Amino acid sequence: MAVNEAQIQDIVRQVLKSMNVAGVSCTGNGIFESMEEAIEASVKAQKVMKQMSMDGREKIITAIRKKTMENAEVLARMAVEETGMGNVSHKILKNQLVAEKTPGTEDITTTAWSGDRGLTLTEMGPFGVIGAITPCTNPSETVICNSIGMIAGGNTVVFNPHPAAIRVSNYAVQLVNEASIEAGGPSNVAVSVTKPTMESSAVMMKHKSIQLIVATGGPGVVTTVLSSGRRGIGAGAGNPPALVDETADIRKAAADIVNGCTFDNNLPCIAEKEVVAVSSIMDELMHYMIEENGCYLLNKDEQEKLTSVVITEKGLNRKCVGKDAITLLSMIGVKAPNTTRCLIFEGPKEHKLIAEELMMPILGIVRAKDVDDAIEQAVWLEHGNRHSAHMHSKNIDNLTKYGKAIDTAIFVKNAPSYAAIGFGGEGFCTFTIASRTGEGLTSASTFTKRRRCVMSDSLCIR
Ligand code: NAD
Repeated sequence: MAVNEAQIQDIVRQVLKSMNVAGVSCTGNGIFESMEEAIEASVKAQKVMKQMSMDGREKIITAIRKKTMENAEVLARMAVEETGMGNVSHKILKNQLVAEKTPGTEDITTTAWSGDRGLTLTEMGPFGVIGAITPCTNPSETVICNSIGMIAGGNTVVFNPHPAAIRVSNYAVQLVNEASIEAGGPSNVAVSVTKPTMESSAVMMKHKSIQLIVATGGPGVVTTVLSSGRRGIGAGAGNPPALVDETADIRKAAADIVNGCTFDNNLPCIAEKEVVAVSSIMDELMHYMIEENGCYLLNKDEQEKLTSVVITEKGLNRKCVGKDAITLLSMIGVKAPNTTRCLIFEGPKEHKLIAEELMMPILGIVRAKDVDDAIEQAVWLEHGNRHSAHMHSKNIDNLTKYGKAIDTAIFVKNAPSYAAIGFGGEGFCTFTIASRTGEGLTSASTFTKRRRCVMSDSLCIR
């Protein structure tokens, strides 16, 4: 049955109403008033989960996928309405992607050795109760992604979501629990709190029942988790440079870069945040960006005005994060054509709009004299985050050199950045890319501990 615009808006209004928009005090279905209550419920659910078969876990995951697909649009609209960031149609795609391509129990594998002395297995067992801190930039996507992976690993999960995205995050937590119950699993496989704060996250990090903490967000939260004294997985900030050399298909590179950069208004941590181009093709690249891909070339005066609006004395202006290009231009009094998707300009790598991770469709383009110079500047721009980098080139030596030099968890070649998470590229999806702690693109197996089971002198039938 097709649902029209008015019906969708009505559903979103009803969901928001049911979640008590003003006070965010909706409890039930995994949502608790206090972190202590939430953890207690998760511990109980974990006891049930521990007894479940792998097949039982997979049934819960199948139900989560189905509910996410059914609610992809509601989740997308809730996120944009609540956070004021991003693009509804792109967020629908992100929710669908997470439902379809996040690995389930098939990611839980066993390694075996057999021989004269018997059979030894290394199995992946659950940590137990995992604490997860999630961002406002991909709120429901991260809750669903973490839930699928963690439940596939046999864990239950306690969320402390970003306060600016609490309604949509908690709605996602509720969907996960509804899915579990409908599939014959326990309630409270995922839990959260009505009002997440620094204090509630501190309670979570110190709690004796929490075996592992997974933090997805900026540098602050990752550093806090890694200093907590607990086992932590840190999925931190990036500032991905897209490098274009003289061998690239320049017209395609322009389209790929703008498509990646403007996806969900540049909110994904993997998205192209600046370009470094070899001088000989730079003008051609900018030509295609402007003529064929809706880029608006900022003049010097506009660059200065935009810099002072986007980066204030207090740092990044959150009111600009996740806004589209036309809204950003309107903030400096410029009325742009309604085909405008991205704002570009040429500048040095130290320019504030280039060096900082902005999460909005502004692409500074840095000129390099040759590929070696481009690689050096791109490595500087990535700031050692070791997160993501992209390159457009047909020269495998150049691609290899850049990949080695920048040493990031993600390196996309000749495609938009979102190919990295399975959107138009091979491979599974994740919204938690453990750049800081080195697990890379997380999946169910990341949320398990290794256990060796040894049978001595038997069960080898070779
Ligand atoms: P954020 O750092 O503001 O918030 C992320 C989460 O951490 C929130 O739940 C927030 O409440 C919490 N938090 C922040 N500081 C904390 C502290 N000191 N102690 C405990 N909790 C704290 O990030 P955001 O604006 O929601 O998301 C954008 C940032 O996250 C960007 O830097 C982006 O690159 C990064 N990010 C990384 C990944 C990844 O997979 N590596 C994914 C998404 C976002």
